[in-house]
Amino acid sequence: MSDEPLLKVENLHVHFATRRGLLASRRRMGQVKAVDGVSFEVASGEAFGIVGESGSGKSTIAASVMRLLRPTAGRILIDGLDITHLSEAALRPLRREVQMVFQDTKSSLNPYLTVEQIVREPLITYGLPSDRVRILEILARVGLGEAHIDRYSNQLSGGQRQRIGIARAIALSPRLIVADEPVSALDVSIQAQILNLLRSLRKELGLGFVLISHDISVVSYFCQRVGVMYLGRLVEQGPTASVMRQPSHPYTKALISAVPGRFGARAERRILLRGEAPDPISPPRGCAFHTRCPVKMGSICETFPPPYHRTAGGGWAACHLLSSQSQIAESQAGKVMI
Ligand code: SF4
Repeated sequence: MSDEPLLKVENLHVHFATRRGLLASRRRMGQVKAVDGVSFEVASGEAFGIVGESGSGKSTIAASVMRLLRPTAGRILIDGLDITHLSEAALRPLRREVQMVFQDTKSSLNPYLTVEQIVREPLITYGLPSDRVRILEILARVGLGEAHIDRYSNQLSGGQRQRIGIARAIALSPRLIVADEPVSALDVSIQAQILNLLRSLRKELGLGFVLISHDISVVSYFCQRVGVMYLGRLVEQGPTASVMRQPSHPYTKALISAVPGRFGARAERRILLRGEAPDPISPPRGCAFHTRCPVKMGSICETFPPPYHRTAGGGWAACHLLSSQSQIAESQAGKVMI
């Protein structure tokens, strides 16, 4: 068995060119740093959560791990194998190992196929047994049965459609699931059922997960470790329990303070952020969070990117508040500690 983590993402950058004009005359105007130096690891059987607002770069990370996008820089390794620049042919056997669960169950399932045909498709692609008995076995794992197998996706509820999406993802016996907002389109009561299903599959099948959500309570329920994204960067990362108990970054504190039933009932503890996240085409200098940070410290936050610091809970966070004077001096000299 390899000592390598199941998934290792190293200093990932994904930049997109912004263009203006029509067709052939479109001119390159600049670039958006959708993901800007993100690193994390996921062990077998572990769930790593990525949380942040819309536009923070979470889904771009998911697409990069799935190699639906080619990163601008950095590396993505599965079991120590660098897949960053593998050809589509070389990726094919690995695609079995890494599967995706999508947010939008309506558009991710073909409306012209029955449940049986949807779950059978990936099995046929990889030449695996795909008879009706096998399909029923897979459906049973996600809590569905013979009553659902001949239905079309528009004859199913949102929760049932997501169960089909999960059945399709586990049909190839993958080792890693990338789940992009898997419950955000569902009613609250159904969200808990789907998260419980994913949790039992993680335990029974030893699946690793990258779970992406805008809702830190979803991540805290499901994931052992969490990374908090803001404008393309991870600003805090650590064991979920310690991050939730003792967050270090002001943005993480604001996200947690908005969780109903935690501090939500006590208005004085709720941290309200001013305004929207800045435009990623022209992010603020210094700490990208300084335009909204309720505890900004003036010119140092406006001028110098904060270095990463170890946190008491065994993770790290990027904030000048955590800096010792010597680390501030290092940052001013242009050295960013990682
Ligand atoms: Fe706030 Fe400054 Fe820390 Fe950024 S570096 S989160 S602006 S205190």
